[in-house]
Amino acid sequence: MKTALAAGINAVPGWHAVIEYPHPEREWIIDVLAATDDGRRGVAFEVQLSSQTPERYAERSQRYFDSGLFPVWLVPRLIDYGWPAQPTVPAVVTGFGKSSDLPETPEDLLEREVAKNFRTGGGTLAQFLLTLLTSGPGWTLGSPQMQRDARAAAEARNQARYETEERTRLERLAKLEKAIKEFNARSRPPAQAFGDHLVQSGDGPYVWATATGCWKCPAPMLLWTAQTRRSGDPVPELEIRDKVGPKRFENHPEVHKGVDRWLAASGAGIGKARIERRMIKSRAEESSTFVCPGCREVIGQFFISRIVPEKWSLISAPDPASLPARRPKTGKQPPALMIVPTVRVEPPAVPVKESAPKIPWDQLHGAEGVAAARRQFRGTTS
Ligand SMILES: [Zn+2]
Repeated sequence: MKTALAAGINAVPGWHAVIEYPHPEREWIIDVLAATDDGRRGVAFEVQLSSQTPERYAERSQRYFDSGLFPVWLVPRLIDYGWPAQPTVPAVVTGFGKSSDLPETPEDLLEREVAKNFRTGGGTLAQFLLTLLTSGPGWTLGSPQMQRDARAAAEARNQARYETEERTRLERLAKLEKAIKEFNARSRPPAQAFGDHLVQSGDGPYVWATATGCWKCPAPMLLWTAQTRRSGDPVPELEIRDKVGPKRFENHPEVHKGVDRWLAASGAGIGKARIERRMIKSRAEESSTFVCPGCREVIGQFFISRIVPEKWSLISAPDPASLPARRPKTGKQPPALMIVPTVRVEPPAVPVKESAPKIPWDQLHGAEGVAAARRQFRGTTS
């Protein structure tokens, strides 16, 4: 292979080959050195038929780069760079290994089709040598050290970016937590703030409210949340959604009625928040949001949902009398419906047809009459 390389190099005008070229201090020997006739440029060819660790490829390549030589490895098969991958080195895969048949003449090797990881494109070894020596290597990855430096720099950039993002995230979270804490501190359950004035609304909805203040202006306001009454559960649990769509139950006329009646009954003199359709930046659709009655700033539903249950109280609820009966929560299922023959016959049990014989009341309720009715019911004759 070395002889073949030398022949290929010598065929390129302006270049010549030196086989087994020793380093001035004898530290290493280059298998085949290609040098320009003026001695200004050189390529170090290493024919590596046996396996070698990726670290060793990097280390040996680096010292050629450091000496101003471009290294090219001729290897039988693709180099495995391991994981995490070691730096990539310029390599030409010849398919020619230790166990390969030797060609008749070394120059035959120059006609082998080779694969390589630089100066892309197919071609023979001879064509590769010609392009490499006349047009330069076209190697963009740099030396192994440059690759390691670039990787370290990229990792440092990623780490810095991650740290910045993490810091921003934590700052945002802290700000959010502070805002939630402040909102809770501003909020009081109406029953505590203005006394218990629960209004009853027939079979209307449950309405809970909190007396709070705007986050932007000093306006106090009443915010509320509502649920329809559910059968089987006299007072549902307070649930506050953290997102609302373009429609919301809190804006239902029956709910407004409950809130207004409470405001009148309690004489609280607190502003009622407004519900307006607003475009929410983070979401594509419109949302019916509470807005401050003073400055009309949006009171985000997310923040409302973070007001703790202790800050809410029920201001309007259906009359207990209108509630449907509570279903038994445990125990047996009600017995399946059975038709039980009954001896009781209502006086005008069925409209008596004109043609039917009229049976006097006494006879109908006598022993015989009852037995007849029973037979009739069972569809039997005895
Ligand atoms: Zn406001």
